[in-house]
Amino acid sequence: MDIKSFSPPFETNCEKCNQAISITTHFQCAVFVCSGCRESYRFRNNSLINNNSRIDTKDHQEYIPLGAVGKIRKRLYKMIGFAVKKEKGTPYRWREYLLFNPYYGYAFLAEYDGHWTFLEQLIVHPKEVVIKNDFAFDRKWFRFFSDYKSVLVYAQGEFCYDVFKGSESEIRELISPPYILSYERSNEEQMWLYGEHIDEDDIKDAFAIKEDPPEQVGIGICQPMKGSLNYTTLMRLTGIFIGVLVVLQFVMTNLARNEKVLSESFSIRTDSLGNMLPLVSESFEITKAPANLELEFYSSVDNSWMEFSTDAINETTSEHYGFTTAVEYYHGYDGGESWSEGGPAASSVLSHLPKGKYHLNIWPTRGDMRADTFSVSAKTDFPMYSNMFAVAGVILLFPLITYLRRRGFEERRWSNSYYSPYEEE
Ligand SMILES: [Zn+2]
Repeated sequence: MDIKSFSPPFETNCEKCNQAISITTHFQCAVFVCSGCRESYRFRNNSLINNNSRIDTKDHQEYIPLGAVGKIRKRLYKMIGFAVKKEKGTPYRWREYLLFNPYYGYAFLAEYDGHWTFLEQLIVHPKEVVIKNDFAFDRKWFRFFSDYKSVLVYAQGEFCYDVFKGSESEIRELISPPYILSYERSNEEQMWLYGEHIDEDDIKDAFAIKEDPPEQVGIGICQPMKGSLNYTTLMRLTGIFIGVLVVLQFVMTNLARNEKVLSESFSIRTDSLGNMLPLVSESFEITKAPANLELEFYSSVDNSWMEFSTDAINETTSEHYGFTTAVEYYHGYDGGESWSEGGPAASSVLSHLPKGKYHLNIWPTRGDMRADTFSVSAKTDFPMYSNMFAVAGVILLFPLITYLRRRGFEERRWSNSYYSPYEEE
């Protein structure tokens, strides 16, 4: 739609200050306020009737000038009325711009603390489907954010509704960012508005305004968080990554050879003073590198323990890989119940071993003299799940951080509301 589609306005002059007046909406105009002297008029039968009342103050500068034309959401709008309103009993003020398109009718732009919302009137009032504090509309859940009385502070231009009569109306706002539902009720009328956050730069561009828009303070009532994926996309991506990871793990588990490379039994040997002597295992070969190696120690300890300080030694490079494994097994009967702890076997895992010939040097120590044998078995190239869990942890970190960031953002938003779900009291 082109600007030419706006039909020529009704034109006259202000009775008080003689300023030229043009009324875009003709008979749809209910009230007109002269921008020169703030004298207010009613528009009846194609003529202006003086209300004999005026708005006293003019300390409010509109960002979008009266009569400016701009395209919002692909529709051409003309700014025809500007009003400043405040919350009754508080200093909080916001600005409302009435927009008009001859085909689509009226729309509003509201600006509070530099945050902008584009609103359109709902012809059909939403059916109230309320569950706890949530209100279902347009396949979204809206949450009750605020209720207050609004008082008109200033107005200029033309209005399709009686901007004075509704000068003390009750407003309820519900949000589902970036969307907002606003219900406004005065003695005369009630209306539902459905809106969405709009970027301040889009306003600047739409109306080709040179000055910068009002500076933003805090978080807007339905401002979306920038640079963050929505939950559905995030969950979908996380699901895909985890799925790929599980498939990879499955493939690697199937490719693993699970090769047993050592199985040997030992008898404890002591010197003449009773000190236990170190033992040396047979040599075994790791053919595929880097390899993991699981060493399982078994000893039939009974209410006792045995510990093995071990070095795996690469016979080619003489490199040592030290580790300690403890077997402990305790059991008993206490207060009518039998209990047990530990077991006769324990294992240790070495990872990323280079290939080559290896043997083990084992220094055993024990809790009592009864246990005098043990055995060691070693296997290599077995599937390890620890890597998968580590990667899964990193993948899950991303939604977690996003969740925490968003929660912080929402807490700041809701700090402006009496109905914050984040304050538990
Ligand atoms: Zn005037």
